[in-house]
Amino acid sequence: MRILVVADVHANLAALQAVLAEAGEFETLWSLGDVVGYGAEPGACIELLRRYPLVAVAGNHDLAAVGAIGLEEFNPFAAEAARWTATQLSAAEKAWLSELPQVAAEGQFTLVHGSLMDPAWGYLFAASDAEEHLRRQPTPFGLVGHTHVPAVFFESEEAYLHGGASLALAERRFVANPGGVGQPRDGDPRAAYAVLDTEARRIEFRRAAYDIETTQAKIRAAGLPAYLAERLARGR
Ligand code: ZN
Repeated sequence: MRILVVADVHANLAALQAVLAEAGEFETLWSLGDVVGYGAEPGACIELLRRYPLVAVAGNHDLAAVGAIGLEEFNPFAAEAARWTATQLSAAEKAWLSELPQVAAEGQFTLVHGSLMDPAWGYLFAASDAEEHLRRQPTPFGLVGHTHVPAVFFESEEAYLHGGASLALAERRFVANPGGVGQPRDGDPRAAYAVLDTEARRIEFRRAAYDIETTQAKIRAAGLPAYLAERLARGR
């Protein structure tokens, strides 16, 4: 089975469309949270994801947009975007976000936005952060989002992953992050995603170019903070 893995779409419709166009055939789509927040097209991203057989978990921005968590821990740009997003979503879109689980188990994989210690907010930036996560992970493999940086964490080892990298599903347990679709933060502005092939037992990390300028214009036209548009071009 081929599975398209996305994280941190962040209401960036053009980036999501580019990923879907380049991913090739897949049977199921896994979304690791933060479908909304920061970008100008939250509802359209939810609607597009929901056209596919989908397993999705909630991210901190999804929870903030429906009032399930407060905005105290958000930076001012993120908080402003969360308030704007709440005004844009339909009742059905909010209901869908509200019902997302925080953790999902699919075959040999555990899916969570942040970490198993703190599903909405925990960041895995280094192997030291991931140690406890791996101890708690009930499956051999795991997938997270939240940092927007493609990476893999083994017990006491980490590696950052550029487009074209791939990882075998073998004896070593790991938790991996495909990077962010809608707001990459590893210096490569292209949308980041992964394709998991359960027969070949391999996960591939990929990048897809998209129309950043048009996306930036939509963010500015929506009245969202200009910084959220500017950072897309830097991939930071
Ligand atoms: Zn995010």
